[in-house]
Amino acid sequence: MDYEIVIGLEVHCQLLTETKIFCGCSTNFGNPPNENTCPVCTGMPGALPVLNRKVVDFAVRAGLATNCDITQSSIFARKNYFYPDLPKGYQISQFELPVCVGGYLDIEVEGEQKRIGITRIHMEEDAGKLVHPEHEYGVSFVDYNRACVPLIEIVSEPDMRGAAEAVAYLKAMRNIMVYLEVCDGNMEEGSFRCDANISLRRWGAPEFGTRAELKNMNSFRNVQRAIEYEVERQRDILDGGGSVVQETRLWNVDRGISISMRGKEDAHDYRYFPDPDLLPIVIEDAWIDEVRENLPELPVARHQRFVADYGIPVVDADVLTADHNVADYFEAVVKLYAQPKAIANWIMVELMKFLNDDKISITKCPVTPQGLAELLGLIEDGTISGKIGKQVFAQMYSSADNDPRQIVENQGLAQMSDTGELISMVDEVLAASPDKVKEYQGGKTKMLGFFVGQIMKKSKGQANPQMVNELIKERIG
Ligand SMILES: [Zn+2]
Repeated sequence: MDYEIVIGLEVHCQLLTETKIFCGCSTNFGNPPNENTCPVCTGMPGALPVLNRKVVDFAVRAGLATNCDITQSSIFARKNYFYPDLPKGYQISQFELPVCVGGYLDIEVEGEQKRIGITRIHMEEDAGKLVHPEHEYGVSFVDYNRACVPLIEIVSEPDMRGAAEAVAYLKAMRNIMVYLEVCDGNMEEGSFRCDANISLRRWGAPEFGTRAELKNMNSFRNVQRAIEYEVERQRDILDGGGSVVQETRLWNVDRGISISMRGKEDAHDYRYFPDPDLLPIVIEDAWIDEVRENLPELPVARHQRFVADYGIPVVDADVLTADHNVADYFEAVVKLYAQPKAIANWIMVELMKFLNDDKISITKCPVTPQGLAELLGLIEDGTISGKIGKQVFAQMYSSADNDPRQIVENQGLAQMSDTGELISMVDEVLAASPDKVKEYQGGKTKMLGFFVGQIMKKSKGQANPQMVNELIKERIG
């Protein structure tokens, strides 16, 4: 039978604040276990939370960037459940009055635009982390460094109709949060993570089917695979006359399957109630205006500007704006050397190859925008060929030497543009292949490429190919 796939996503973003949401402890990742803790974030009796203003700031920023309305008076609620990584026995979250509501995000899948509704964005604290050491059977540790680290949860409407749309939405959302500098977007470390609610319904059916919630997908690739797997699993159940159970399932990356974790609870299972330790959050117009005025240029706008102002192809703009650091780097080079398309090519082909091999961000690239601009200038004015340029680039990268002119000089890499020297080389090559010269003169103009190739080889790539071309034509044309 044919079904319509219905997907809604819950995205958790860990916020880039220096301190936690309700205390002054550091949010730094990777510190020794339980170093970033105090009576508040370890849930000691009587310890009182104090809201970090920056968290509200970031939530409003995220809300405005995703076209939400800002709730000017919202409250925190207690979400009650027991788990050893949650020292208070409840999580401080938002329930009835979240800070942002009713937004949307436009995505593009296979050239088609689609608008995905955003139900709400709320602020909450993260839980701690349980550590189960591999070689100590029967022992578990708890690390509360992450307890009370601020999160926003962005809940979408069930508007997505397949894995591709879900991945497109997630990529767009991640990109926006990184551009806003509210979240580092690191999926492996879990600072950007998502849960997917998936159900199937028969085409035309008015009601949604029973949904299963998928967790533990730490890359876009895994989101795609997990959703595809879940759709097939539910299709098999429904086709076999069974019914889907409402539950939470964990994606197992290694086995490529999902496993039932627990029956999915409904909101009322958590006994939400307003947190009596925290005052309502009041966000006045002036605060919202201030955040709005300071919003950075968002990915879609930057993409459009790159195409319009720099005249680069859409596919290039896709790559360059996918990471705002890459976009910044590109623009820094363009400021020094006004050939956007050439710069785009160098960044996308040469530079990214090196960065990918070393798995480092462009912010740590040893070749500075200035260095790249100078290198491109040397190629353009004919000092070196494009081929030698790649060699010089590799040296600049490995030695962090950003003076390409000096490298070219020290190693004698400058292009041979001395006519006398070139003429003798051309004559030598022509004299060595009299048959081919005859063929050329007999009309086989393709031979020209052969001669140029020979001379380039002889000069170790340093002959100026344009001059070589002209000289050959001059002598035997
Ligand atoms: Zn603390």
